[in-house]
Amino acid sequence: MSTRRITIAIDGPASSGKGTVARRLAQALGYAYIDTGAMFRAVGLAALEAGLPLDDNHAVATLAEALPLRFGWAGGRATAHLGPREVTGDIRREDVGQAASAVAVLPGVRRALLMLQRSMAVGGGVVMDGRDIGTVVLPGADLKIYLDASPDERARRRHAELHARGEHVAFDAVLADLRARDAQDSGRAEAPLREADDAVRLDSTGRPPDEVLQAIVLLALDRGACLAEPPAAE
Ligand code: C5P
Repeated sequence: MSTRRITIAIDGPASSGKGTVARRLAQALGYAYIDTGAMFRAVGLAALEAGLPLDDNHAVATLAEALPLRFGWAGGRATAHLGPREVTGDIRREDVGQAASAVAVLPGVRRALLMLQRSMAVGGGVVMDGRDIGTVVLPGADLKIYLDASPDERARRRHAELHARGEHVAFDAVLADLRARDAQDSGRAEAPLREADDAVRLDSTGRPPDEVLQAIVLLALDRGACLAEPPAAE
């Protein structure tokens, strides 16, 4: 039996479902799950709290380089920490998502996080999700997935997620924010959101997460990965 631990990159726009699928895929393969969006969100949160202008490359990059960011695992969920403080909930806030997207255009911030992201993938056995994983961070990944869904469907998912957390934002506002983030993520000069030439494109519109997960598991097995456990239904 093969013991090779492959490297899997999953990219796509906000709320395309890549986080859920990437986490469950990592669990099924016994791999580490690395959520690079959470890294940009942690920088965005720290910059907001420090009162830094979000377009100040030098100031925000200096903050990112020294950020005491750590990820943990509790009750089957990834947790994020800045020093002794747990920020798992805070980094999911809407204002923090917007700040993350703003600081993600800064070359110094991307450089600081790129080093961290690449170091976490050394040796394989990782599923990493983000916007530029297949194109910039891990161009040699064994399997690259580009997961998309229609803007309406993504806004519906995001709206339901916010609602479940007690954040009552109008659907139209969620859709507008999503479109603004898509434009910023795809239009920036540095590492824009783009499908890698050798990525497998999947559209999750109208498809249950289990079905998308199964499709990616089959692709991973085809590229040499082995199952640690059967993919669990959620
Ligand atoms: O994936 P998530 O929505 O949590 O990411 C938050 C923001 O971080 C995105 O809107 C995007 O601007 C940025 N990001 C990025 N590159 C990545 C991951 C996230 O620019 N690899």
